[in-house]
Amino acid sequence: MKRSLRHRCETRLRQLALPDVVTSMVDVVDHVERLRERPVRLRPLSLPPGGPTGAWVATSVLDYVFYERDTSPRHQAQIIAHELGHMTSGHHSSPAAVLAPLLLAPGAATVMLAREAYATDEEREAEQMADLLVAYVEASMERAPALSALEAALKRDSRRL
Ligand SMILES: [Zn+2]
Repeated sequence: MKRSLRHRCETRLRQLALPDVVTSMVDVVDHVERLRERPVRLRPLSLPPGGPTGAWVATSVLDYVFYERDTSPRHQAQIIAHELGHMTSGHHSSPAAVLAPLLLAPGAATVMLAREAYATDEEREAEQMADLLVAYVEASMERAPALSALEAALKRDSRRL
């Protein structure tokens, strides 16, 4: 069961056909925007403790990804990747009705975001996608210097031709 979820998510990651070089989760967001042909707006928020640390809200024309402002960049990347996981797995977003309280009074949004607590299959799938996306970005960042050196070498060669 666990393996099949991971396998399904790995297949989906390949289908996303991410660029070889991504330097941050924002590059992944850009890519998902192009794939879905919908803008994705990243919005940091101070969310109440004990509640969800992120949310995806789709409107008719774009997607909002809210993420906890007061946490580490690594955790923020994981939160954003989790919401991208929902998006790319064909899950439904939180209803747009949560948008107003999120923007006006984040504390009031806790109950409306309770979806996170019950849709456990979707949560596991989104979290598996998040782990894969974070690992992809980290691996790409490690590869980046080597790729740059290779590209520089190729450019030198092409100039010689
Ligand atoms: Zn979730």
